[in-house]
Amino acid sequence: MIAEVIVDVAAHPIDRPFDYAIPAKFTALIEPGMRVKVPFGPRKVLGFITGIKETSDFDPKKLKPIHELMDVAPVLNEELLDLAKWMKRETVCFEIDALKVLIPAALRAKYEKRFVLNARLEEIAPELHPLFDQKPFVKMQDAADFYPLLKKEMDKGTITADTDISQQTAIKKVRIVHFAEAEQLASIEIRKNAKQQEKLLDFMRAHAGEAFESADLQKQAGVTLPTIYSLVDKGAASLSNEEHYRDPKMLQEAEKKDALAMTPAQQDAYDAITASLGTSRTFLLHGITGSGKTEIYLQTIDQVLKQGKEAIMLVPEISLTPQMTLRFKERFGDKVAVLHSGLSAGEKYDEWRKIQRGEVQVAVGARSAVFAPFENLGLIILDEEHESSYKQDDSPRYHARDIAIYRSGRHQCPVILGSATPSLESYARAQKGVYGLLVLDKRAKNQPLPTVNIVDMREELRNGNRSMFSVPLAEAIRERIENGQQTVLFLNKRGYSSFVLCRDCGTAVQCPNCDISLTYHRSSEALRCHYCGHDEPVPTSCPECESEHIRFFGTGTQKVEEELARLVPEARVLRMDVDTTRNKGSHERILAAFGEGKADILLGTQMIAKGLDFPNITLVGVLSADTTLNLPDFRAAEKTYQLLTQVSGRAGRDKLPGTVYIQTYSPEHYAVTLAKDQLYEPFYEQEMAMRRASGYPPYYFVANIQFTHEDLMTAATYAEQTVRYLAQQLSPGTVIIGPSAALIARINNRYRYQCLIKYKKEPRLAEVMQQLIKVYRTDWLKKGATLSIDLNPTTVM
Ligand code: ADP
Ligand code: ZN
Ligand code: ZN
Repeated sequence: MIAEVIVDVAAHPIDRPFDYAIPAKFTALIEPGMRVKVPFGPRKVLGFITGIKETSDFDPKKLKPIHELMDVAPVLNEELLDLAKWMKRETVCFEIDALKVLIPAALRAKYEKRFVLNARLEEIAPELHPLFDQKPFVKMQDAADFYPLLKKEMDKGTITADTDISQQTAIKKVRIVHFAEAEQLASIEIRKNAKQQEKLLDFMRAHAGEAFESADLQKQAGVTLPTIYSLVDKGAASLSNEEHYRDPKMLQEAEKKDALAMTPAQQDAYDAITASLGTSRTFLLHGITGSGKTEIYLQTIDQVLKQGKEAIMLVPEISLTPQMTLRFKERFGDKVAVLHSGLSAGEKYDEWRKIQRGEVQVAVGARSAVFAPFENLGLIILDEEHESSYKQDDSPRYHARDIAIYRSGRHQCPVILGSATPSLESYARAQKGVYGLLVLDKRAKNQPLPTVNIVDMREELRNGNRSMFSVPLAEAIRERIENGQQTVLFLNKRGYSSFVLCRDCGTAVQCPNCDISLTYHRSSEALRCHYCGHDEPVPTSCPECESEHIRFFGTGTQKVEEELARLVPEARVLRMDVDTTRNKGSHERILAAFGEGKADILLGTQMIAKGLDFPNITLVGVLSADTTLNLPDFRAAEKTYQLLTQVSGRAGRDKLPGTVYIQTYSPEHYAVTLAKDQLYEPFYEQEMAMRRASGYPPYYFVANIQFTHEDLMTAATYAEQTVRYLAQQLSPGTVIIGPSAALIARINNRYRYQCLIKYKKEPRLAEVMQQLIKVYRTDWLKKGATLSIDLNPTTVM
């Protein structure tokens, strides 16, 4: 017997299976989908068995034998093995990369096998007794009859195999400081000259009864650990070590809740979906924020479970909050496995095992949960399907939506793509009837949409206001503070780019050849087009109106916070950005504090755009809509529209009506004006016309090919050779753009060069890409280059 094995050799990826002889002792147990150790050159490497066959094209006598079995049961079933092959083809990746992404991270590392005895020791074959006597498995497997005997016991169920991964994935604990209550703190006394302790005590008194992560506390209160210890000794606080930042207790104790009575619109959508159970139909559920999409997910999943099948619920990582998962726990109890990034690798593995063993029927998680190893899928849901985080940034560059649709074909189950602002691709497919279109155009509790005001910041400047806050927004904030209502301020700071904008006329300096803003490169003091390579020196005055009020854009949250302190000194402000959420759990803690009314204003970056659902928020301010609008990316308008709609949806979700102010230098841009009233369809029409005119998705497909090298010229040369090769090989209708330097021209001292391919139909694409990879493997790789191919990139920056 011969096994086909895909080996894991990162240094020189070889993208085909190798044949290995199966030693007789393994034949009883061996199956595709198991991992093995095999000799490869001088080393032993990890590999996946992808097939078992009788004969080989190679001389069987020369085949090397498999050295060791890493699993005694497959970690991947046939469907997932096929999926890896499909991903290899569709995303142009190495099969080993696809295989590795299908299993939990814990299984990618080394681990110990462990066997569980389910019967009395005397009941099993004596040869196997040493298994339960600390004898290493690796030694035992040399015995000729070991595997047949083990197989027999496993079939009987007297022994089950398990994996001991606890050592590799030691759980990181964080120290939490719990402050005493106000009364207790009032009674604490401190020596006169203990300034540090006094400072900390003041801080504690201002936050009585709260808990802080020790590292956070040191930073925020400006004290050191010994000071914290002294106050703990005095009884001002207690310490604990906590494993997880999300509250598993809250989820474990979730009370069972019943389904809500659906609105007629929800009922229609529900009926359409449930009527399609058992088919591979894809639905686009287009429902405005708060229209009750989640309720539809819950009830359709319930129906799927009643039919004895399983469901996958995908949400963007940023929306995977305790509040969100609680809704699933309340409905489905312990039938749910939640795969979130707060779990250690070991815990993630445990959840994955529950799925594999059929102990749970619903998996809720971010992108990679689409690979949940269910055997009998009845439904796959992607909420916020337009989110770019569904696409993986590095190899395999898969999109969870494509994987969901592939698996739906395999399992004959429907897919629901839900969004308030669908991606253009999905909406276009729904328009053509490829997807079923379901619409919810009213909020579930019938609250009106918030009133959205667009503020022209050029006007503000003309009136002498140089602040980041327009007069109407500043006034609205003050009003909220007086009335005890809450405000969310959103600083649009997405991407890495800075661009140059005229503060008088709102012009962002554009490329003469492309409809895209030029990007400011600090290193060379130049503006460059990232699409065609055009560059020019930074202008000193506006090319449109000659104003000298021209400057780089990109203000930090910290600066906003300072200005806010001058504007409304009495306001209590919580800041949420990459700096304040670096520690695990800080994200949730800030949100919880805001929810409990401990601040008047929440100020943050895009991470606050989603999931905020607090009744007391009646004002949302977008400080500048322009950052996303001027991204050097063909999706800039789409991203702006999505973001503005999302953020606006945070206001007035309960009884109090909401008001939104969007500050912008481009008040007439259609992405801004149409987001004002959440007019998706007119936006779609207009944006589609733009895409058609400039030849971008969904009219054309795009592929991005990128080289990196320590030497700029080498990277550029390979990109150039590639462009020439592509021009020869691809059809005349295909457009090749570049080569040009990537937006971030150097990362980690490696220069990045890229070219873009735009095509409508390119039957030879896969073949040509494989050819490129071949040259890469045999030549460029050895010379220190990396090549990445990204089909359908979510961004081309
Ligand atoms: P979406 O996912 O579209 O943003 P949700 O499902 O979160 O919307 O619903 C928004 C709010 O409306 C939630 O507070 C939810 O509990 C409530 N809701 C949804 N459907 C109903 C219904 N049929 N009856 C009453 N309240 C509902
Ligand atoms: Zn100008
Ligand atoms: Zn250009």
